[in-house]
Amino acid sequence: MESTDTNRLRYAALELRMALEALVYERAKHYATDTSWNKLSKWQPKKLLRLLLEVDPHADKDAIISIGEPDQEGQPASIMHCLGRERVLKLEEIDSFYDRLGSYLHTPTKAQADAGAPESAGKILAKCRELAAILKEVFESQIINSDFKISSEIKCVRCGAKVYGRLPPSMEDSVATCLECQAQYRVMSLPDGQAEWQPITQPLQCSNKECMEEAWIFQQDIKPGIKWKCRKCGQQSRIILGISPVLGDE
Ligand SMILES: [Zn+2]
Ligand SMILES: [Zn+2]
Repeated sequence: MESTDTNRLRYAALELRMALEALVYERAKHYATDTSWNKLSKWQPKKLLRLLLEVDPHADKDAIISIGEPDQEGQPASIMHCLGRERVLKLEEIDSFYDRLGSYLHTPTKAQADAGAPESAGKILAKCRELAAILKEVFESQIINSDFKISSEIKCVRCGAKVYGRLPPSMEDSVATCLECQAQYRVMSLPDGQAEWQPITQPLQCSNKECMEEAWIFQQDIKPGIKWKCRKCGQQSRIILGISPVLGDE
């Protein structure tokens, strides 16, 4: 990499780009039970990592792992010993390097050539060095590719596909997305280790003014043209775009 020869630097860019791919593929192995292999066969690391993040919002987050003996059964230990930190490659990092390095591997298009001189060796080297420093941190992590999961699954109420949810170790609520229809659910952990699933929906009122019964519609369905039938009065309602006069200083 330490060269002023553009051809050598291009080769370094290629190797660095392949390292990004390898790290994301390695991470994806943990998710084979959360989604289908078919979905995980995406080769572009950005798309693959975005998919992992839909299953697990912590897929690209660093972690510190500590261990301790609880003073009382079921309670967190008061004295914890840190085992180490894991530095994980982040989506923003892939976003900022993958295409940029890729652009050094191709002949500039006519539009790029017309726009100005190709990247100088110095610029390519600077970008390669920047990424190499990030990769060094990732590879020097005391812990590599850790995965602690409590997962749960349901059948999507919208499309019938299986939806997998992960509860983060902190036991906060998390959001799970159906990978087939994008319906979203809030997954809440219950004290007995079980999970409760709640569709993320919005209440919309029936268009029959006498009725006003609310229907719960998935967020991604709220767009013009979508219809639903009221379960109370049977009236069909539709979402439309509307224009109304602006009154006074409103
Ligand atoms: Zn679905
Ligand atoms: Zn109604």
